Amino acid sequence: MRNLYEVLGVPRDADQAAIRKAFRQLARQCHPDVNKAPDAEARFKEINAAYEVLSDEQRRAWYDEFGDASLRTGFDPEAARAWRASARPGPEVFGGGGGVDLEDLFSSLFGGGGRGRGSPFARGWNQETVSVRRRGPDMEARIEIDLLTAIRGGDVRLSLRRPETCRVCGGTGGTGRQTCPACKGSGRRTSQRFGLRAVVRCEECAGSGSVFARECAACGGSGRTMATHDVKVHVPAGVVDGQVLRLKGLGGEGRDGGAAGHLLVTVSIRPHPFLRRDGHDLEMDLPVTIGEAVGGASVCVPTPDGEVRVRIPPGSSGGQRLRLRGRGFPKPGGGRGDLFLVVRPVAPPAADEEIVRTARSLDRAYPGDVRADLRLDGS
Ligand SMILES: [Zn+2]
Ligand SMILES: [Zn+2]
Repeated sequence: MRNLYEVLGVPRDADQAAIRKAFRQLARQCHPDVNKAPDAEARFKEINAAYEVLSDEQRRAWYDEFGDASLRTGFDPEAARAWRASARPGPEVFGGGGGVDLEDLFSSLFGGGGRGRGSPFARGWNQETVSVRRRGPDMEARIEIDLLTAIRGGDVRLSLRRPETCRVCGGTGGTGRQTCPACKGSGRRTSQRFGLRAVVRCEECAGSGSVFARECAACGGSGRTMATHDVKVHVPAGVVDGQVLRLKGLGGEGRDGGAAGHLLVTVSIRPHPFLRRDGHDLEMDLPVTIGEAVGGASVCVPTPDGEVRVRIPPGSSGGQRLRLRGRGFPKPGGGRGDLFLVVRPVAPPAADEEIVRTARSLDRAYPGDVRADLRLDGS
């Protein structure tokens, strides 16, 4: 995966205004409606995905700290810090290397669950300062809509499984505390790795030194359970295939008063059996009888806005395009493209002799050989 800053072409310390500006510029250039290069759509998605993260200060901070790992669904920064602190003991930490900071080292050496809490440096701070509000994780989902919903906009129901506070224990994870049997209450354990000995945070008690006397059976002590929710996703008119809709606060629940994460919904659009999209224009075949094609007619045609009456000019050939202005796909800046009807004369099924004779009499009306211009070489 490419670095998100490189995707948007901004430096790592770019402010929000610069990020927004770069995003808008690139999105305009690569919008699949404008840019017909084969990789334009993939690039557009990549730009959108990068902007989703970098425009959100919290997610950007996680990305800076954890890189691509932070982009996974349900990413938990506390768990990632704990894992990193325990997985890289001793001199490896000092050896530098990606993103390990001293605070992680201290928290693994001195115990303390999460940043600062319980570490010698945090003692004496009031609880307000050291409590960590944890924003809920962002969640991802996909919806498939038909082309008409993309044109008109509309609401789509989505069944979503997401973690929420355990109803049985209210999120505490259990009752009563007892000394952690794994570390005997110290919150630290000695780890042996690559022949090096190092003191790391106890995984059993997350460094706190104690565990629940009675762990909640419903959530296994985590304080969270998975629950299924129905979510209504509003799809704006003019949504394009691969676009990501961001529903604020509909992701995973926050902890300790933290805000809920976002729900990122990727939209894919099913092909329509009759309507084809070409940029902001739509195209549809319009079957007509031979009589209608020759003599002209006024016919009823279904469009995304309901039925309209369309005049077929006399002498319409197959492939002729009739334009219905403003009945196409919505444009980003307002207004809509056009709907083109492609005239397709349909021959009747097997007819009796008299009808065949009548049809053949039409041949006299052609000024010359209808295939006169049909040549495959240039001469
Ligand atoms: Zn529980
Ligand atoms: Zn322990």
